[in-house]
Amino acid sequence: MTNHLFSEIRSRMPDLAAPFAVLADGRVFRYQDVLDASARFANALVALGVKPGDRVAVQVDKSLEALMLYLGTVRAGAIFLPLNNAYTPAEIEYFLGDAKPAVFVCDPAKAESLRAVASGAGARLETLGTKSDGSLMEKAAAAANDFADVARGPEDLAGILYTSGTTGRSKGAMLSHENLASNARVLTKEWRFTKDDVLLHALPIFHTHGLFVATNVVLFAGAQMVFLAKFDADDILNRMPGATAMMGVPTFYVRLVDSPRLNREITKGMRLFISGSAPLLAETHRAFQEKTGHAILERYGMTETNMNTSNPYEGDRIAGTVGFPLPGTDLRVVDPDTGKPVATGEIGMIEVRGANVFKGYWQNPEKTKAEFREDGFFITGDLGKIDPRGYVHIVGRGKDLIITGGYNVYPKEIETEIDGMPGVNESAVIGVPHKDFGEGVTAVVVANKGATLDADAILRTLESRLAKFKLPKKVFVVDELPRNTMGKVQKNVLRETYKDIYRA
Ligand code: AMP
Repeated sequence: MTNHLFSEIRSRMPDLAAPFAVLADGRVFRYQDVLDASARFANALVALGVKPGDRVAVQVDKSLEALMLYLGTVRAGAIFLPLNNAYTPAEIEYFLGDAKPAVFVCDPAKAESLRAVASGAGARLETLGTKSDGSLMEKAAAAANDFADVARGPEDLAGILYTSGTTGRSKGAMLSHENLASNARVLTKEWRFTKDDVLLHALPIFHTHGLFVATNVVLFAGAQMVFLAKFDADDILNRMPGATAMMGVPTFYVRLVDSPRLNREITKGMRLFISGSAPLLAETHRAFQEKTGHAILERYGMTETNMNTSNPYEGDRIAGTVGFPLPGTDLRVVDPDTGKPVATGEIGMIEVRGANVFKGYWQNPEKTKAEFREDGFFITGDLGKIDPRGYVHIVGRGKDLIITGGYNVYPKEIETEIDGMPGVNESAVIGVPHKDFGEGVTAVVVANKGATLDADAILRTLESRLAKFKLPKKVFVVDELPRNTMGKVQKNVLRETYKDIYRA
């Protein structure tokens, strides 16, 4: 048996002298370096006693070394477990207690504050910094460039990614070698990645988007990336003439559209802009196309499933939709209560099945059972519909559905109305406790730069366009919406902020 994921990565490598990544400081990292560096990390982990199936938990700042630690972990047959940099020691304590990793790797500067947490969970503490520093880096630097990859089958785990946990505690999604390989294979083909591509990589690597979608697609194509610590619109625009593709969250595109430097000239060498992880406003899609001539390709996925759908490479990329199910992924929209498919165009729960879908939640068989149907479909928690042309539309998370006076209100419908009004930049519609209605529809609106908005005027416009039960009972104009690092609007934070407004 071979190491399922890494063998495929290895077999797809171009000439080993070809660049894999160019860093902000101009350093070039070649495919030969990928083999050598990941082997050194694999050797260092094995020397620390890491065995096949052990978890290697990692909370470090973004660096190429951290990416090599991912590959080294996979080669050692262990399970890579990245954690958001923003997590506090108290949160880390929960993750380590749940995952029981053999090793926990953190930034050198955080070692003191996390030492007790690591030892409490029985994990060995190691460090890895962004300046090629830290205890694990030293061990890897001294290790050999050769490593005999540990045999792992398609069903063995390669990673555990904790869900962001906006409802209840985060759960560890178990991802197998074939979950990751199958998705990388499909996306490379669907998006036409080849060894001639240069991807702008400015996403975090603790999340499925930057770690698996972006990195694995580059590796499977034998392509190259410009590997940046973070997104900065000016920096990205400076580097765009040397690149061919970008993957980003909607916020990246909003910032680019805001830049006076974005135009056809600067994007003329680019062949593809991909967006995902949160809904891209149709307005951003249009503005980007007007300025550059490029239609952003929007796709839909989640931690548990990798990518499920994508707008077509050739064919219409329709704003406000996430395209078609990917080859090998079955997708259906069902009545959440009965599990029966709904008619075309009707809203229901999105369920998916396929080689991309995870193996269940780590040490949580009850939760796993509750989220899968008997025929193997995973209940995503996203509400959506399939239009007559087969394009999938996401309407929002099931938990964001508002039930007011017994009626279902889909926030997206009201948000779309508000977003279309002059002077409006974006909006979020939430349900908050209301003594008569159960939940009161509430709109939080952000104005365009320089525009002023009047909450009453927004309401009056909505009155002429929406059924009475859908109308917000209150509209708030704010400077910005709360977002997490992946650019997702945090409706849970908004619900908390406004929870008492109908109490008085
Ligand atoms: P995560 O597990 O952090 O990747 O979050 C996954 C969730 O993000 C999905 O279940 C969707 O609710 C949302 N999401 C991802 N991509 C899109 C998209 N293109 N449009 C709308 N929502 C999306």
